[in-house]
Amino acid sequence: MVMTDVERTAAPSEGADLLSTVQQQFDEAADLLDLPARLRGILRVPQRELTVNFPVKRDDGRIEVFQGFRVQHNLARGPTKGGIRYHPAVTLDETRALAMLMTWKCALAGLPYGGAKGAVIVDPKQLSIGEIERLTRRFATEISVVIGPERDIPAPDIGTNPQVMAWIMDTISMHQGYTVPAVVTGKPINIGGSEGRLEATGRGLTYVLTAASQHLGLNIADVRLAIQGCGNVGSTVAREAAALGMKVIAISDSRGGVYNPHGLDVEAVLTHKAHTGSVAGVANADLITNDELLEIECEVLVPAALSGVITAQNADRIKAQIIAEAANGPTTKAADAILYDRGCLVIPDILANAGGVTVSYFEWVQGLQEFFWSEREVNAQLRRVITNALQQVLRVAAERQVDLRTAAYMLAVQRVADAVTTRGIYP
Ligand code: NAD
Repeated sequence: MVMTDVERTAAPSEGADLLSTVQQQFDEAADLLDLPARLRGILRVPQRELTVNFPVKRDDGRIEVFQGFRVQHNLARGPTKGGIRYHPAVTLDETRALAMLMTWKCALAGLPYGGAKGAVIVDPKQLSIGEIERLTRRFATEISVVIGPERDIPAPDIGTNPQVMAWIMDTISMHQGYTVPAVVTGKPINIGGSEGRLEATGRGLTYVLTAASQHLGLNIADVRLAIQGCGNVGSTVAREAAALGMKVIAISDSRGGVYNPHGLDVEAVLTHKAHTGSVAGVANADLITNDELLEIECEVLVPAALSGVITAQNADRIKAQIIAEAANGPTTKAADAILYDRGCLVIPDILANAGGVTVSYFEWVQGLQEFFWSEREVNAQLRRVITNALQQVLRVAAERQVDLRTAAYMLAVQRVADAVTTRGIYP
């Protein structure tokens, strides 16, 4: 089985760093919104956190205990939604941060959800398919007390995929005694997945990018893209952007990148990666490092791999006019300030990569109604939702003279705060 191929090993402090960054971004938006202290107290921390330790039978007969989490940040706007990550370096703090980001992402896109995230501390590459299935079914059982179509709806993330979602859906369905398709999204199409879900994040990013390029007066045919990461999102962005007439001049994976200033043959690169496991070595391209890729001459940079890659150390050497954040948290706070001063338009993760959760929402709606849409309908609705969100963010950014990230947070935080206020504090 092909698991998503992120190969990083995060430093142990990474989760805590990400949580403090996400909380700082929240504090900044809360200050600008003059949010009352009682609302800040509610929104700054997750509403629910579940830690589970559970045994899994290994193929050699050993029993190994794994630790996993499910964090629900806020339920004021509806059930919570967010991915499940399998990675050896995940932490509870990282899961908290990612759950909080999901709350803002859903609110910004106008989806009737709060944010959640789940994780298991495991390197799926070290397990057989059978072991991954047993781990998944037991983890699903452990978190079944908090998930469900009306409560919290998981989706794939790093290290998990549609097959893993199918096992979760099947496990929950076995417990219920009937099929519960809407308990997860990102399922295979033959059991209730949505057309266009697999490509949704990359496609949504490309829709946002097109609208942002037009906003800056860039001619699409003149747009050169550099993409860090050639997984699900990076490869879809490359394909979609090339189809629109943009030039993909660089793309990379964990083993390095390839560069051609006149434009890469995207299909040739993706075929080469599919055959060899890496983009490196494709014809008609020079090899570059992942660091060099970030700094090449281009109009658009798409970090689609790791968090924390654009920092105060390299921000002033980045030449792109637009950075569209496919990865979660690729730009540090210090880098944000440098890029803003230099006039670089940073489209924040909670907007740029919201296509995935948006089509997950469509999948959930289709599952609840047992009525399925064509890919064309999915894409049209995705374009509507995500470009609408971009226009709102651009408007707030212009009105308040802030960067797009701050504007996006202001819009999202206000919406969640309004929901909490309107519902009132129980009891
Ligand atoms: P993926 O696993 O399919 O691909 C990740 C890519 O990053 C791979 O090409 C991998 O080789 C590359 N990579 C790993 N380590 C690297 C390194 N050190 N330097 C350069 N490249 C490296 O993952 P994906 O689904 O494409 O997700 C990419 C990013 O987008 C992640 O940060 C993810 O959280 C975020 N994201 C994904 C989705 C989605 O729907 N897939 C939605 C929202 C956000």
